[in-house]
Amino acid sequence: MTMYSIWESIVGFYEPTLEIVSLWALGLPLFVTVIAVMFILSQKWQGPLTIRTLANAAFPKEQYDHASSRVDMWNGIILLLLGFPLVGVIAINGIAIADNVGAYFNTAFGARDPVITSTWLLVAVQFLVYFMSVDFVGYWVHRWCHTNAHLWHLHKPHHTAETLTPWTLFRQHPIEFFGLNIIPAVVGGAFTGLVLYATGSQVHPGMVAAVTTTAYIAFFVIDVFSHVHMPISYGWLNRIVLAPVMHNLHHSMEPHHWDKNNAVILTLWDWMFGTLYLPKKGETWRWGCNEDEYGANNPHKTLKGFYFDPFVTLWRHLRDGKSPNP
Ligand SMILES: [Zn+2]
Ligand SMILES: [Zn+2]
Repeated sequence: MTMYSIWESIVGFYEPTLEIVSLWALGLPLFVTVIAVMFILSQKWQGPLTIRTLANAAFPKEQYDHASSRVDMWNGIILLLLGFPLVGVIAINGIAIADNVGAYFNTAFGARDPVITSTWLLVAVQFLVYFMSVDFVGYWVHRWCHTNAHLWHLHKPHHTAETLTPWTLFRQHPIEFFGLNIIPAVVGGAFTGLVLYATGSQVHPGMVAAVTTTAYIAFFVIDVFSHVHMPISYGWLNRIVLAPVMHNLHHSMEPHHWDKNNAVILTLWDWMFGTLYLPKKGETWRWGCNEDEYGANNPHKTLKGFYFDPFVTLWRHLRDGKSPNP
């Protein structure tokens, strides 16, 4: 292997990450500013409306300067550099799994005649099944992380955030990050494989393009957006798709908000399965895990605590048979 081809394969591996990083660098300031303007207009802003007041509303110093935000940002940089190339491979493998499952059923039960002849309908069906099943499984895995006392140790670092900025999306323990991406992709791939068999079709290239594009849109517009500090609501659409106010509430430390709004993209699942919480008019809350692990007592206020505390508490839980978490 020549030096050139080694370099080419490294660049190839990082290509999706570089795309995300460049979108991130260019898009983030613009994105948050647009949101700040929307929010200010919706709040009937009082006081001077200048570049400075807008910038303060979009990037409040007390949020970005906070120890919690610094953990989010550094872990985010590490995940972008190390995690995303692997997650990109996993997402592509989800589609490859669909292909293999479809082929397996064809061999086991004999190929079926094509049921759908229209190309756009075929792409739509394959894409919808893949997207909906990945998101559906994502909802249940997230919900399970809240209800299973052992898994909670690994999801808890996301909830010890005391500030919200777009970087908080990346406040995920590395073990959780891979689990949350691998399980939905594998199950979504398997479901899509069944649909491929049932419709007598193969993965359409248009479906691959649709999944990739939607992954970017979903990632930027919905998941990044759901971590802005402003409680932006989509009105009646809050029951269908995740608005910032809904995920803001998921980060609330008030006990009556715990385990609510577990959606990754579609709040439809929360609505269907009884975990939807629509904030009341004027309702406010603080972000954090609980009163006992807040501020100076936050176990994840440094990167070291963020990475190692979950292993320590999980180990104690397995050893003693009861959770050390309050
Ligand atoms: Zn959660
Ligand atoms: Zn979050």
